[in-house]
Amino acid sequence: MKSRAKDRSPISLRRQAEGQLQDKPPAGRLPQAKDTGRLVHELQVHQIELELKNEELLESQAETQAALKRYARLYDHAPVAYFTLDLLGNIRQHNRAGAGLLGEEDTNLVGKSFLQFVNDRDRSAFRGFLARIFARGAKASCELALTMPGKPQQDSFAQIEAVPDPSGQTVSAIALDITEKKRINEELIRSNQELQQFAYIAAHDLQTPLRSIGGFAQLLQRDYGNRLGTEADSWISQIVRYAERMQALINAVLGYARIDSQGASFEAVDLGRVCDEFLESAAATLAAEEATVTRSDLPTVVGDRLQLAQVLQNLIDNGIKYRGSEPPRVHLSARREDQEWVISVHDNGIGIAGKHHGQIFEIFQRLHSQHAYPGTGIGLAICRRIVQRHGGRIWLDSEPGQGSVFHFTLPDRSP
Ligand code: ADP
Repeated sequence: MKSRAKDRSPISLRRQAEGQLQDKPPAGRLPQAKDTGRLVHELQVHQIELELKNEELLESQAETQAALKRYARLYDHAPVAYFTLDLLGNIRQHNRAGAGLLGEEDTNLVGKSFLQFVNDRDRSAFRGFLARIFARGAKASCELALTMPGKPQQDSFAQIEAVPDPSGQTVSAIALDITEKKRINEELIRSNQELQQFAYIAAHDLQTPLRSIGGFAQLLQRDYGNRLGTEADSWISQIVRYAERMQALINAVLGYARIDSQGASFEAVDLGRVCDEFLESAAATLAAEEATVTRSDLPTVVGDRLQLAQVLQNLIDNGIKYRGSEPPRVHLSARREDQEWVISVHDNGIGIAGKHHGQIFEIFQRLHSQHAYPGTGIGLAICRRIVQRHGGRIWLDSEPGQGSVFHFTLPDRSP
């Protein structure tokens, strides 16, 4: 807690000094002529004033030293690495975490070059990074691969953020060890790629035998239909139907596995136009379903045209497929929120209970039988994956019997 500041104004000091002099026993004062007496009095007052000032100086010096010690302790024991570096990358100051990050626990690295800990391939980038901070006088950050002396095969990674110091001679840098984060990230990417490849190969390899099953069943139907009895006819047509369904599921898995691996590069996509093109091509189906699809202004965003068209198409298709007793009505709208667009697809269909809102975005999760509403259960999983690939989110507002509104976001960025 802060102590109450003492009043050290000249008037107050004078008053305090006079007071202290009054309190001194008269024995300390020699009898003097009137002028000399006043002079001596003044001198004594000044002396006391000086003593008071000195006392104050000592106090503030002690406070500064205590604050410095506190700061040094915090600096030294902070869990993040701190460095002060000069233009050449020499270490002028560092804390324990700094030494730890460079694999030199409890070692004084002052005077050593930071560059000797930077992996060869990142050295010139790091020199450029320092030069930029000094040249611009502004904060900058970079990612570096570090090499521990004596352990060249064990790379670690650091995220460095540095600001120029007021002297203009050094920079203060904070370095975070991101080795683990990078490792997990790379592992995730690798296992994700493996999974996609696995799904792709599995689905692809399943297609050949499935085609044969479907083909032979159709041959049976054509050549032996009405000759094996009604029960056999019904079994054969079931084989044909299931083979077709299996083919649809495999196609869906292939489509899902291709989203990341075979997505196109991003470009400016006019969602209004994409929507109109789809409605034009689907006009006959919409008329047959007595469906009305309308839209407000939709933005131009940056993304993969085909994939974004697929998201809109899947959501519109679902809005029509999961219809109630009324003719289906679907409306698309968009609004800007912070740095992103929120696109919403409203329908007047059967709606979905809140407890299923998360589940339906999972692959193969369906709420209805094939008989009631046909489908593969992958459409929304595809939508979610595409939206995530674009840096957005997808969710819905819905209640049974009240229709559904599916929303997804897309960052508002320039191409
Ligand atoms: P599919 O339509 O092929 O089953 P989706 O992944 O598109 O697969 O949808 C998953 C499930 O979510 C559907 O089976 C359905 O139960 C529910 N659903 C999706 N969209 C709607 C909607 N607009 N209205 C009501 N239910 C829906």
